[in-house]
Amino acid sequence: MANLGIPQNTIEVLQRHHFNFQKKYGQNFLIDTRVLDKIIRAAEITEEDCVLEIGPGIGTMTQCLAERAGEVVAVEIDRNLIPILEETLADYRNVTVIHGDILKIEVRELVRERGDRPLKVVANLPYYITTPIIMGLFEGHVPLKSITVMVQKEVAARMQASPGTKDYGALSLAVQYYAKPEIVANVPPNCFIPRPGVGSAVIRLDKYEKPPVEVKDEEKLFAVIRASFNQRRKTLANSLENEPRLSISKKRTAEILESMGLPPAVRGEALTLEQFAAFSSLL
Ligand code: SAM
Repeated sequence: MANLGIPQNTIEVLQRHHFNFQKKYGQNFLIDTRVLDKIIRAAEITEEDCVLEIGPGIGTMTQCLAERAGEVVAVEIDRNLIPILEETLADYRNVTVIHGDILKIEVRELVRERGDRPLKVVANLPYYITTPIIMGLFEGHVPLKSITVMVQKEVAARMQASPGTKDYGALSLAVQYYAKPEIVANVPPNCFIPRPGVGSAVIRLDKYEKPPVEVKDEEKLFAVIRASFNQRRKTLANSLENEPRLSISKKRTAEILESMGLPPAVRGEALTLEQFAAFSSLL
């Protein structure tokens, strides 16, 4: 099978099928074999693995995954790509292509049908839905080993950010509650066709077997986190009092902060995941 990661081969397939890129689907196809290699190596795929690929495009990464994994399931929304995938993946018996929207498909059901083996997710994600895809997998309690994905560079930085930095926010805490993030490569726009208007990065999220902090009520923890970052420059006490769905008085916040040894005027951006967990449990 020809290596699709080489630009001429991708262009030849696209032209032969008269394929038109759909901006609304975030279609930026990878045309750099070194980057492909980095993603595949970072994901540490073995014959034991069942891989879920989100948005296979013309099947460039799918071919590499199929050569290493026991099984690959690829979910693609664009019906015009399905006949192309039938052609480019014809030689691979271990690939199932599903035509559908990853945000609507029951991924847990896919896992159940395959004997509940935890998945490795590998993808060059459509950037317009990066957060709903990743949080949907985590919050939907899909059995997972890891997620290795190409995302917008700024989003990767936010997922990996530590307290007190400019990138730290609700997304950092939500991701770090479920997984250990590691940015494995930065990828410039010229590695894609068409070129995206933003830089990209490959990030690996290693799923924890159980969250690194204990909380009585996950929903409350995330409600507190979201409210704390709604108005970044405000103190935690002000942000929480201003959130009608929580209605926590400034006095109550100050009491809890004091019991935790934190100053009353602390901002949400200074709190670690452990401190948010302790705070929400004390509420
Ligand atoms: N994997 C290919 C590659 O690396 O060359 C394509 C990556 S491209 C950035 C994103 C892919 O996701 C496109 O093929 C697009 O059609 C597909 N896609 C977009 N939204 C989707 C959705 N909701 N569900 C499934 N696939 C989607």
